[in-house]
Parts: sequence; C-alpha cells; structure tokens
Amino acid sequence: MKKMTQISSYLGVLVILLFTTTAFKSENSHKNLTAQNANEITVLFAYTTNAAFSAGGAANIKRNVDIGLKNLNDALKNSNVSYSVRAIDEFVEVEYNNTAADFSSVDQLLKELRKVDGKFNKVHQFRKQKQADIVCLIFGGYGMGYADLNGEMMVCNYEEGIFGGSYIFPHEFAHNLGATHEAAMLFDWKEAGSRRTLEGNGAVAIPYFSEDRTITMDVAGAKRTFALGDASHDNAKTIRKNAPAKSKLGENLGNVAASNNALAAKLVNPLSVQAPQGPVYSITAFSVSTTGKVTIKYQTADDLAINVKCFPGGGTSPFGDCKSSLDKNKNEKIIADYYAEGWSGDKFVLYVGGKEVKSYNVP
Ligand SMILES: [Zn+2]
Repeated sequence: MKKMTQISSYLGVLVILLFTTTAFKSENSHKNLTAQNANEITVLFAYTTNAAFSAGGAANIKRNVDIGLKNLNDALKNSNVSYSVRAIDEFVEVEYNNTAADFSSVDQLLKELRKVDGKFNKVHQFRKQKQADIVCLIFGGYGMGYADLNGEMMVCNYEEGIFGGSYIFPHEFAHNLGATHEAAMLFDWKEAGSRRTLEGNGAVAIPYFSEDRTITMDVAGAKRTFALGDASHDNAKTIRKNAPAKSKLGENLGNVAASNNALAAKLVNPLSVQAPQGPVYSITAFSVSTTGKVTIKYQTADDLAINVKCFPGGGTSPFGDCKSSLDKNKNEKIIADYYAEGWSGDKFVLYVGGKEVKSYNVP
C-alpha cells in the first residue's frame, strides 16, 4: 500500500512538471498559440472598447472569461463530452463605444457580428488568422448573452455574473453546438426549489446538460438521485454529435476580404493592454436623497456606463451596487429605484470605468 502511495505521488509531480513545460512553451512559441489540439474547440474573444472601459480594463474581462471557460469545461466533463474549449491567447479589441441597451440591440449586435463584411470584419480576419472555431463578442450594457443555434457566433455582456454562477456563458456556447431550450430539463424539489440543466431558463442551473441517465448530486444539503433527461431531453448527445465538426471550423475558414464598413480593431494581450480612455465626459453634480433617489448631472460625448455603490455609515464594505448608463443625448440621470436608502452618515460613490469619480456623504 505504501509503495502505491509513493508511485501516485511521484506521478503527481510528473504531471505538474508536464503542465509547467507546456505552459512555458505556449508563452514562447507563437506557433503553439494557434496550433489546435485534437478534441479541442477554440474561441476567439473580441470585446468592444465600451466593454473594456466599463469593466475597468481588458484584464477584468479576461478574468471573467477564465471563470466562464472553467464552468463550461467542467460541465462538458460532467456530461461526458470528450471535447474541451480553449480561448485563443490574444483577444481582439474593437473600437466600438456604444452600449447595447436592451434585447433588440443585443440581437442587432449578433446579426452584425455574423456579417463577414460588416462592422466586425476585422474580427473575422483575425478569426481566420488564428483559425478560431467560434467567436464570442463581449459588449457593455444589457446583462445577457445571445448565440446562434447550431452556429459559430455568440455575444455576451462583460460582467462577471454572465460567466460565473448564472452559467450564461456555458448556456450560450452550447446553443452554438446545437443544444436547445426544449431539450433542457427542469427539476422541482419542494424544500430546495427548482433547478435546471444548462440550456433551461429561469431556475438555478446545475453544471450538467440534459441527458438520458441518472445521477446523484447534492442539492441544497441533501443527496438526490434523479434522471438528467430522457430520450427526447438529451442536449449532451447533441453536443457530442456536433462537437467534432465545430472543432474543425477554424481550420476550414475561407479568406476574408477587407471591408470598408469595418470598425478599427487590433489583436491584444488582454492582461497587458492599456484600458481604453472611454468617452469625454464631465459629472457636474452627484447627490442622493434620504429615500435613496440618486441624481447625476453630466455631459458625455457618448453613452457612459456607470456604477453607484452605497457604503453604510461611510465604512469600507459596500451594500450592493447599481449599474446603469448615462445617455449621451441627456444631461441628467435620476435613479429612483435604487434599493439603498440614503441614511445619515452613508457614503455613496459614483464609479466610471471602474474608478471612483464622485462621492456623496448623506448629511
Ligand atoms: Zn438560451
């Protein structure tokens, strides 16, 4: 028994060494950055300058993407999909300063992304250069993701919530692989509430795709055994069927001609690229009423993403936050439904581009 233990810990060391060597290689050889391993689907992440400015820099976007990729790869593993998903090391920064304010603008964004000769033409050129299988465009504004069904294009808001516990990023990615809402499952446990497999909507997601098999998992403190799906609720099967073809999209792309409609864009290292400047703006007044009504007076050359946090008693731990945006065609923004009340001594802080720009102490 002792010998076995020694062998396995020795193997453990070997594995770590191999990982280190691989990581070292991919940093130093440009060829390795684009070369695709078998059973791998690559994603080229592009982000708008608006998203990077709102996120306080592209490094924050990359951190969220890494969380989303881990959630996605864990779910694929849980669902016995033998493919993993990897981000192309470099991201594409697109000069695009608009926010998508609602569902219809997100829909428009995805339609525009599909066009090889449209605003995102340079993204398509970089996709060809990097031989990326799938493209994910990250935008600022409305908090959602959206993807082509059995396609190659998806769009996601930059915020951490999209890539983290909500599983929105894995959900959208699986749409690209053909998974549908109809084939998802919803489970109801009276005392624990509802759960859904990843393509469902509404309830809390579990990191599995629907499938014709039974699992046992801990849900809200109790071990439960249940079927993930059945013959007609089997997104895992669909993903397994479509993954091989998706993993070859990148190497079979046609040439992309430059287009006059193209927005300026460049390949960047998201960890080291400078945060975009954002629009020219000025905040002339920032105050909060005792009922929590936040008033901001401003001028901005373009729509501006903002965040307001309340620090009770002027302390250092914020009580929630309130993300919103300032319309370039207006000069005053009133947020009347912010749930934090302005009690005497509370401090409210206005953030733009991830930085504190104004604060207000409730008298
Ligand atoms: Zn969906």
